[in-house]
Amino acid sequence: MNRMIVDLHTHTNASDGSLTPTELLDHARQLGVDVLSITDHDTLGAYERLPENPGLQLITGVELSTTWAGRGVHIVGLNVDRHSPALLAGIQQQKEARLERAGIIAHRLTRIGIPSPLAAVAAMAGDAGIGRPHFAQHLVDIGVVKDLRAAFKKYLGAGKPGDVKDGWASLEDVTGWIVAAGGIAVLAHPVKYKMTTSKLRLMLDDFVAAGGRGIEVISGSQQPDVTLRMLALADEFELAASCGSDFHSPDAAWSQPGRFAPLPAQVPKVWEQW
Ligand code: AMP
Ligand code: MN
Ligand code: MN
Ligand code: MN
Repeated sequence: MNRMIVDLHTHTNASDGSLTPTELLDHARQLGVDVLSITDHDTLGAYERLPENPGLQLITGVELSTTWAGRGVHIVGLNVDRHSPALLAGIQQQKEARLERAGIIAHRLTRIGIPSPLAAVAAMAGDAGIGRPHFAQHLVDIGVVKDLRAAFKKYLGAGKPGDVKDGWASLEDVTGWIVAAGGIAVLAHPVKYKMTTSKLRLMLDDFVAAGGRGIEVISGSQQPDVTLRMLALADEFELAASCGSDFHSPDAAWSQPGRFAPLPAQVPKVWEQW
C-alpha cells in the first residue's frame, strides 16, 4: 500500500497564504495529499469558505500566535471543534491583538520615514487579519526593498521596528483554548525560534504543563539531523509527532503541500490520537 501523505500545517488567503481554501484543496489533492489541515494564523475563516466536498480528509486546524520568554512562538491546534466557545473567544481576542499590533507596526514604520502604510495593508489583507507579510509586500510595492526577504531582514524580522512581541495571549491560554475545543495542541516549527536546545526544553516543560501534546517533528524540508533532534524531544516529553509543510504559496517551490520527508514509521503520531 502506498504511504498516506499527511500535511497538518498550511495557509490560505484567510490569513497570509495566497490561495483560496478551494484552490488549496485542489492544489494539495493534485500533489497527492490524503490528509490535510488548513492552519491559518489566528483564524478559522477558511472553514467558512470550503467547497461542499473537500476531496480529501480535512482536519480542522488553526495556528495561534503567542509569546514565550520574549519570543514569538506558534502553537498549532489540530482536530479542534470550530464552534467551541472558548476557542472562538480566544480567536476574537487574537484578532483584536492583531489589529492593534498592525497600528503599532504602522506607527513605527511611519516614524522611520515610510509614508503611512496602514490603509494599503488593510486593503491588501481584506477579510484576513493583517500580518507582517502584508506589510512586507507593501514595502516591496512602494520600492523600499526589493523582495519580501529583505523586508523582513530590514524592517519586520526579529529585533526590527516591525517586530512587536507583546499583545498575544500566553502560551498557557492558547494551549488551553485548543484543549477546550477538544483538539491537540502542537508546537509549530520548533527550529524556527532559533532557541538553544536547553531553552527549547524549558519551553516544552511549560507547554506540556499547559496541556500541549504534540510537536512538529517535520516542518517542511529540513536536514536529517534536525529531524533526529526533534524525535529525541518528542520522545523525552512524550509528545506525538506532527508534520507539515507550512505552505503559503505555489511560488515557494521548496514549501509545497505534502512535499517533505515522511515521519519514521515507529513514532507515535498526532493522527493516532483523533
Ligand atoms: P505574523 O503572523 O503577522 O507575525 O507574520 C508571521 C508570518 O510572516 C509567518 O507566518 C511567515 O508567513 C512570514 N514570515 C516570517 N518571517 C519571514 C521571512 N523572513 N521572510 C518571509 N516571510 C516571513
Ligand atoms: Mn505565515
Ligand atoms: Mn508559524
Ligand atoms: Mn504557519
